[in-house]
Amino acid sequence: MIKINEIFYSIQGETTHVGLPTVFVRTTGCNLRCTYCDTKYSYYEGQFQTQEQILEEIQKHLTPYVCITGGEPLLQKEIFPFMKKLCDTDFKVSLETSGSKSIEAVDERVKIILDVKTPDSGEENTFLLENLRWTRNSTEFKFVICSEKDFEWSENFCRQHDLYKNFTVLYSPSFGQVTETWLAEKILSKKSSAPFIRLQLQLHKYIWSPDTRGV
Ligand code: SF4
Repeated sequence: MIKINEIFYSIQGETTHVGLPTVFVRTTGCNLRCTYCDTKYSYYEGQFQTQEQILEEIQKHLTPYVCITGGEPLLQKEIFPFMKKLCDTDFKVSLETSGSKSIEAVDERVKIILDVKTPDSGEENTFLLENLRWTRNSTEFKFVICSEKDFEWSENFCRQHDLYKNFTVLYSPSFGQVTETWLAEKILSKKSSAPFIRLQLQLHKYIWSPDTRGV
């Protein structure tokens, strides 16, 4: 059984799968408490479901894309065989994780998005560096940038671990803390690293915001 907070069908707002109709499976529970967390409701709320029940819910939607998110999905051991089962059923599976738990046992076919926590998240140093050994070509690294300090920290992290040349690196502005324009200009000002950074806006927040709904 896996404790599930919610399962919903929407447009993928992040990663290189941005824009694709996707079923999101949000697991319950998180070991972190990021300052900007917008899914606090996932910390405790949810119901235990069997793998078959979750699969049945996913299959109601005619898309091959499934995103396993949280909370922190890797807190629950049964998520590992469940992701394998999804891959075996020909779903294109992505996993969003903070990287604070080992990704070693994640099925090779899963696209892993490692959301490395920056200093202003309040959860700096929670990323397990040994996870760098278990990455694969499809792995993406995401940094939510809350400030100038976070930007510089992320650049150093990418350089130190040679991420720019080997992986997709996503920089995302922390909603309400720095603007998209500020982050775009910061990226462009860094001549050596700019070509390797992908600015990521949380598309879903624009699509479903009160300003754009019904326009
Ligand atoms: S890791 Fe994600 S779910 Fe957990 S506290 Fe941070 S933002 Fe919230």
